[in-house]
Amino acid sequence: MSADATFKPKMLGIICNWCCYGGADLCGVSRFQYPTYIRLIRVMCSGRVDLKFIFRAFLTGQDAVFVGGCHINDCHYNPEGNYDAYSMATFCKKLLEHIGINPKRLRLEWVSAGEGIRFAHIMNDFSREIEELGPLGSSEGIDRDELKSRLEQMARLIPYFKLAKMKELALHDHDETAYAKLFTTEEVERLIREAPTYYIDPGKCQACMTCARKCPVDAIISAKGQVHVIDQDKCIKCGTCFEVCPSKFRAVTKLVGQPAPPPLPVDQRTVIRKGREQTA
Ligand code: SF4
Ligand code: SF4
Repeated sequence: MSADATFKPKMLGIICNWCCYGGADLCGVSRFQYPTYIRLIRVMCSGRVDLKFIFRAFLTGQDAVFVGGCHINDCHYNPEGNYDAYSMATFCKKLLEHIGINPKRLRLEWVSAGEGIRFAHIMNDFSREIEELGPLGSSEGIDRDELKSRLEQMARLIPYFKLAKMKELALHDHDETAYAKLFTTEEVERLIREAPTYYIDPGKCQACMTCARKCPVDAIISAKGQVHVIDQDKCIKCGTCFEVCPSKFRAVTKLVGQPAPPPLPVDQRTVIRKGREQTA
């Protein structure tokens, strides 16, 4: 039981237009009851629910997130989006577990448009479970600042996770048991431990601008004649800058298990051309 019997969680449901939303609608029309603190957002498909939606929900104070889609093989799209939701939620639970958050705070269910009573049952069961668990963070023994920092750290790594686990996240297997085996705890731990950090060595960068032109997310602070700097908050760890920096410079370093050194102050970024340095 939660220490606070009066605890009313904040819960978000992200549900697909074609099935689960229909079920929620039928639930309302049929006057089946469930707690009013569960707020619903409609999306066209459960496959639209991105990992970052879940982390954003927790970062903005939700105690639990529900994802609802059509039953397996009933998705209205081709390829079927609920398979994507399945692998996303399976992976997300592992990530939550890794940072000490109870994975039960994320729940994925399939509800058809004719299952109003099932929708009410799931909402009541999930809310009871979360009321018993208690508030996010404090129930897990994680203080507010630490919780925010852990969630933000995972949220920053999402683009890297998606690249590294692209194949698994796109699994479309009719056998539901395949999803449970998709991501092992050890694999997830290794993935996080080995997340690379790319860093431009200011002593080597010659401001040729190649990396900045090729970076897919404009994460490189670039100016003519200035040492280039990677904005670590924007970087999605794709490694392109590492690959395209000309071999005669080799200015981009791939670091594993350590943060990038602090960037040079702006007024110290003027590139000293190699030739000039030698003649000076
Ligand atoms: S690793 Fe990719 S995203 Fe990050 S700075 Fe380099 S090119 Fe940009
Ligand atoms: S490609 Fe290499 S040398 Fe050119 S700007 Fe980027 S880091 Fe500097």
